[in-house]
Amino acid sequence: MEIWENYIDGAYVPPRSGAYLDCDNPFSGEIWGRVPRSADEDVAIAVAAASRAFREGPWSVMTAPARAALMRRLGDLIAAHVDELAAIEVRDNGKTYREMKAQVGRIPEWYYFYAGLADKIAGEVLPTDRPDHLSYTRREPLGVIGMITPWNSPLNLLAWKLAPALATGNTAVIKPSEFTSASALRFAGLVGEAGFPAGVVNVVTGLGGEAGKALVNHPDVVKLAFTGGVDGGLAVYASAAGQLKPVILELGGKSPNIVFEDANLDNAAQGAVAAIFASGGQSCIAGSRLLVQRSIYDTFVPRVVELTGRIRLGDPMDPATHIGPVANKPQFDRILQRIALGKSEGAHVACGGVPATRPGLGKGLFVEPTIFTEVDNNMRIAQEEVFGPVLCVIPFEDEADALRIANDVRFGLGSALWTQDVNRVHRVAAKLQAGTVWVNTYRASSNITPFGGYKMSGLGREGGADMIHEYLQTKSVLLNLSGKYTSPFDL
Ligand code: NAD
Repeated sequence: MEIWENYIDGAYVPPRSGAYLDCDNPFSGEIWGRVPRSADEDVAIAVAAASRAFREGPWSVMTAPARAALMRRLGDLIAAHVDELAAIEVRDNGKTYREMKAQVGRIPEWYYFYAGLADKIAGEVLPTDRPDHLSYTRREPLGVIGMITPWNSPLNLLAWKLAPALATGNTAVIKPSEFTSASALRFAGLVGEAGFPAGVVNVVTGLGGEAGKALVNHPDVVKLAFTGGVDGGLAVYASAAGQLKPVILELGGKSPNIVFEDANLDNAAQGAVAAIFASGGQSCIAGSRLLVQRSIYDTFVPRVVELTGRIRLGDPMDPATHIGPVANKPQFDRILQRIALGKSEGAHVACGGVPATRPGLGKGLFVEPTIFTEVDNNMRIAQEEVFGPVLCVIPFEDEADALRIANDVRFGLGSALWTQDVNRVHRVAAKLQAGTVWVNTYRASSNITPFGGYKMSGLGREGGADMIHEYLQTKSVLLNLSGKYTSPFDL
């Protein structure tokens, strides 16, 4: 049994209350560790440390190149610990080691990329109408940033927030998901090893309604970066509004994946399966609504069902496994409830629709990859995020119909189209109401590409060079060079 502690002010410390939460392995069912169930006072201590580090001490006066050097060292340390960090994540969320290793392996790029921007943050000298005044702007960091992350890609989604926040000189208090807290705690040790001053990065684990809420409500946390479900996001947004606290929200999705009749159908079929079933559907950008043109519907959909039948469920540490277990029991129950809902609404089950009981799955929380066909886009199964291996297939007649269905949903995170018509690519890409449009691919991503949601999928963007402004504020300085002050009162 591994006992983890919070990371506050450069050291591992137990929670004041002495209370802990279990770390469950969703494949073996074993409880393999404990993480602090932190309360208000733990969060307050962490925020005080982060405030101190921001206002005084080495971080507050560190030059941008020096900050960047620390970030590059952190990137190197992550790269040297990919296997260990990925294995911790697999033990907690059941995603395949193959996927987590690839994902954690790309995290250093986030720290290198934003380290490269740290010394390019500059204000401007402004040509105002006062020749005897020097007017310039300063781009200043905000202060203590509260970061709240989900369980599906824990360290990756943390990097999206932490790397730009550090590059711009902020400090952080991180509240990871209660289901996957250990990797952030291990990561915090690497932050210390990289040489970051105490208090710059703090990790406080616990429940959303306890530690998470305390972080959101703390008056010295000046901005929040939240990734999670819509309910949590709305709760965070409402609390933050009371303190006029800005937020970045990365929330859920119900992303349309549109297959036109002129597409390369081999690619499109593979893409349709991977879009939804990679990560067992536990991905905010899962292509959970497959829109198929009516003219190819009867031949294309059976190909997707046949390919889905070849997916291997199993031990997430086995390199041959395509999908591991569902990450945790509440999520497992939620997925099965959603499947029951789809059935009750009259959607046809083309495959799956039940918990998986194949040999070799042990005590794992597995759900069979499920495809509902002949789904009406108005059904709840087509409108609400499942966050599991459940695909809705919806027929459409023509381009206008595809766009109408694709956009007829409250979310707007990912979207994709498969076609060989270049004119259609640009027409449809312009009209899809989503933060990302993939063309003849799915899920491609990069730290250089802004990512975020339209509509209820979120606020703000993560990734890309522009987003450093999410962690900066502009100050104007106006300096009278004339040596004489002319009062408007003429006294
Ligand atoms: P969740 O909303 O239950 O929890 C996310 C985090 O928020 C956790 O750390 C949780 O403890 C905390 N939290 C929950 N309620 C809170 C509150 N009221 N105050 C403060 N903190 C609170 O989400 P989850 O189940 O961990 O993750 C799945 C969801 O995340 C899905 O909806 C998925 O689409 C979304 N997601 C979005 C993105 C994106 O980039 N848009 C990426 C991954 C996951």
